[in-house]
Amino acid sequence: MRILLVEDEKKMASLIERALKETSYAVDWVDNSVDALFSAQNNPYDLIILDIMLSGKDGLTVCRQLRKEGKNVPVLMLTARNELEDKVAGLDAGADDYLTKPFFFPEFLARVRALLRRQKTGKSTHLKVGDLELDQVTRKVSRSGREVSLTPTEYSLLEFLMLNAGQVVTRTMISEHIWNDDFDAYSNVINVFIKNLRKKIDQGHARELIHSQRGVGYILQEI
Ligand code: CA
Repeated sequence: MRILLVEDEKKMASLIERALKETSYAVDWVDNSVDALFSAQNNPYDLIILDIMLSGKDGLTVCRQLRKEGKNVPVLMLTARNELEDKVAGLDAGADDYLTKPFFFPEFLARVRALLRRQKTGKSTHLKVGDLELDQVTRKVSRSGREVSLTPTEYSLLEFLMLNAGQVVTRTMISEHIWNDDFDAYSNVINVFIKNLRKKIDQGHARELIHSQRGVGYILQEI
C-alpha cells in the first residue's frame, strides 16, 4: 500500500513516516500543497494523509481540488486542534476521516487500516485465496494452516497480490503501490521479491498460487 503524507511540520512528518514505514507501507512525504497536488495527480496512492494547516493553500483546498478532479483516493485529514468547525469543513471538503493531533499511533494506524480496507475489501480484515490466508490486523500469513514468516516487503507484496487476486498485476502496479518515489522501477528487485515469496508460499505445495504472466506481470489465483 502506498501512502502520500502531506505535513509541513518536519518532526511530526518524520514520526508519522516512521510509523507507516514500520508497518511496511510505502510513503512519499511532501510539505506543501503544490507538491501534494502534483504527487496525487501523478501517482496511484491508496491513501492520502493530509494536514489541514499548511503554508500556501491549506489541506481543505487540496482535498476539494482532488475531489473536483474526480480523484476518489481515501483522505485522512489531520489538524492540530479539536475544532468542530475544522472537522465539519474537512468532511465537507471530501475527506473520509479526521484525526486531531496529538494522537495515539495505534489509533492512527487503525484508522489508516480502516480507510485502506474500506476501499479494497469492504469490512473484512482477513484475506483468503484457497488455503492461503492473510490477516491484515495481526499481519499473520498462513498456508494450509501453517504460519509463513515474511519480511515487511514480502508481506506488502503478498497483500497487494491477494487484494487483486484473480487479476493480472503488472510490474508497474507493483512498483507504484509497494515502493515509494525513490524506487527504480527498472531494477530487478521485483523479480527477486517474487522469487522469495514463491519459495515461502508455494514451495512444497501441490498447487501453486503465484503465477507469472510473461512480459506482463503476475497473478495470484487458484487454477
Ligand atoms: Ca501543519
